[in-house]
Amino acid sequence: MLEIHEALYRLQAGLTPVAEMERLPLEAALGRVLAEPMAGELDYPPFANSSMDGFAVRAGDVVAATQNAPARLIVVGDAPAGSQSQTAVTAGTAVRVMTGAPLPPGADAVVPVEATDVAARGVAALPGEVQVFTAVAAGAYVRQQGEDLAAGALALPVGRRLRAQEIGALAMLGRETVTVWRRPRVAVFSTGDELIAPGATLGAGQIHDSNSLMLAALVESCGAEALRLAAAADDEDTIAARLDRARDLQADLILSSAGVSVGAYDFVRPALERNGTLDFWRVNMRPGKPLTFGHTQGTPFVGLPGNPVSAFVGFEVFLRPALHFLGGERDWQRLAVTATLAEAVESDGRATFLRGWLEMQSQGFVVRLTGHQGSGNLLGLTRANALVALPSGVQSKQTGESVQVWPLAV
Ligand code: AMP
Ligand code: MG
Repeated sequence: MLEIHEALYRLQAGLTPVAEMERLPLEAALGRVLAEPMAGELDYPPFANSSMDGFAVRAGDVVAATQNAPARLIVVGDAPAGSQSQTAVTAGTAVRVMTGAPLPPGADAVVPVEATDVAARGVAALPGEVQVFTAVAAGAYVRQQGEDLAAGALALPVGRRLRAQEIGALAMLGRETVTVWRRPRVAVFSTGDELIAPGATLGAGQIHDSNSLMLAALVESCGAEALRLAAAADDEDTIAARLDRARDLQADLILSSAGVSVGAYDFVRPALERNGTLDFWRVNMRPGKPLTFGHTQGTPFVGLPGNPVSAFVGFEVFLRPALHFLGGERDWQRLAVTATLAEAVESDGRATFLRGWLEMQSQGFVVRLTGHQGSGNLLGLTRANALVALPSGVQSKQTGESVQVWPLAV
């Protein structure tokens, strides 16, 4: 039986990130992964500009300015954003300047309007003179050309997931389109004689298939494309046929649930080995122990356990990092927080994942468990916003002790 870190290592070693690229308009690129390094052709900002509404000055002119002895400067021009003021600031003069306007020639600093006798709001007409109440150093309130990014420097590396801020940065660089890796395709199917599709009426012993849609939703939350296949019966031939179908659809990874334990009707492993290789099939964790990994004719396969909570936890622990890697993302990190336990928790010594509710309180993060922790009880997960991750070797933790908590993706 493998520890989680060993299983994660072997899983990642068995995956090859997608290599095909596609070009997308920036509007359609949110959540995609950059396939080309992005450098700026220009300096950013492209010109020195004011970071405040105020007056562009020569710092030397206001070096002695105080509330009681203001510096008086003649206002010789106006510099709104969007054009370069041609009026130079010379000794004893100032140019009114707006945030984002290029610094007028001759000026080396900006005095914010709040530090002058000019009302910050209201008067739109250019005053003839301005009184400055505070000294400013050279460079004050000036955003220097190139301070965000020098021309030619790397702005965004290959493998970066495009979030809102990357989309904004690409727009700043003037890009309309961007080259990204194609999304990984993940075939998803459930196994189990008891399963029927949502919408159909339950017969004796039947349950609705919740894993297929849940796992497809998790796949999509990782930026991959879910290809849902029909559920398979507990039968080696049917399961093998689903694997064939997934390969025909050119899935980059195949994900199934259930049928991976040691029950008399668990046929996923034999179906995989019929036409492929098994790498591991048990991980020292709770829930989610019978997690299965292998390849079918070169296509990676992960078999999650059937209990919905086990399937969910197995996905979060293994598939989330795996799908980010498969999608070409190079610097994905799981974000975890340290939280104080609002109640005691127990484990059998295996790495254990409990459903919890994480809350920011005045003393920091606090976490409590959300009801029944049985791995068949999916609704406990709907009341959770986090997983409490107890490492292997821990038997119990008392109220007030610290634990690691994984906030769940929204
Ligand atoms: P198994 O891994 O096949 O032993 O299944 C473990 C438990 O998970 C059983 O109670 C199954 O009925 C349940 N289960 C398996 N697949 C699903 C599914 N797709 N949706 C909901 N429950 C499932
Ligand atoms: Mg079963």
